[in-house]
Amino acid sequence: MIAPRLQFHWLKAGHCSHPECVAMRGGRWQSVMFPALCGLIVHPVRGNILFDTGYSQHFLAATQAFPERLYRWTTPMTLAPEEVLTQQLAQLGIRAGDINYVVISHVHGDHIAGLRDFPNARLIISRAEYDSAASMSRLGGLMHGYLPALLPPDFADRLVFVEDAASLGLPAELAALGSGFDLFGDASLIAIPLPGHSRGQIGVSFKGDDDRRIFLVGDACWSMDALMGNQLPTWFASRIFSNVRQYQQTFTGLRQIAAIPGGAMLLPSHCQQSWAGFRNECRT
Ligand SMILES: [Zn+2]
Repeated sequence: MIAPRLQFHWLKAGHCSHPECVAMRGGRWQSVMFPALCGLIVHPVRGNILFDTGYSQHFLAATQAFPERLYRWTTPMTLAPEEVLTQQLAQLGIRAGDINYVVISHVHGDHIAGLRDFPNARLIISRAEYDSAASMSRLGGLMHGYLPALLPPDFADRLVFVEDAASLGLPAELAALGSGFDLFGDASLIAIPLPGHSRGQIGVSFKGDDDRRIFLVGDACWSMDALMGNQLPTWFASRIFSNVRQYQQTFTGLRQIAAIPGGAMLLPSHCQQSWAGFRNECRT
């Protein structure tokens, strides 16, 4: 059986700003933009699937009061009207109610801020990530970038756990990470554990309609420059991680995957270069 090829759009739903040296060892003091990227994946049978949601206005509501306001101060966010995800989907002819699934890479606020905008979506998450978030106190969650106010009220009723899907050995170009989960039972969309940044972070991989393998890696690395240059995050940025040693193992696996000539295209969630590069490639 040949796995269906999936259509893909790589979208930017806002950004935050940081001194580069806070996120990356050897980085500059200069403030740089970290885009909040998310994917629209279209499956021929399962329909419209989002990988994360980026920022939304809900982030401002959730960080209005203290102590949550500290989150907004630490990572000041900008969301231009044309970057609101529901607006971008409308431009593609897709209504919010037409999103059937949202894959949640992990529960940091800049990845789940738009969840409330997609009332019909089943929400795919790892059990490890869900359990980890559910066990956090208000302050503990905040320290790890998690804002429970961003979750829709019926969050628990709409969950689908990746661990309930069949386990799948990864194709050769991703084999450095072992195995994944076959989300739809047709090998089209594979969820791959990427622990360390958060306890249960997942990425997804699929073949696009040009037959190229794409791998959305969430926050397993900040940028392709950091990955290729073997530049791990700073001590300061690592404070929000669940496990620094696991992060390094995941990072090493990604470096092996990135080194394969003609292999998977890795797309980190905050990588400005790969966002611009992907869009330019799609235009030609
Ligand atoms: Zn994160």
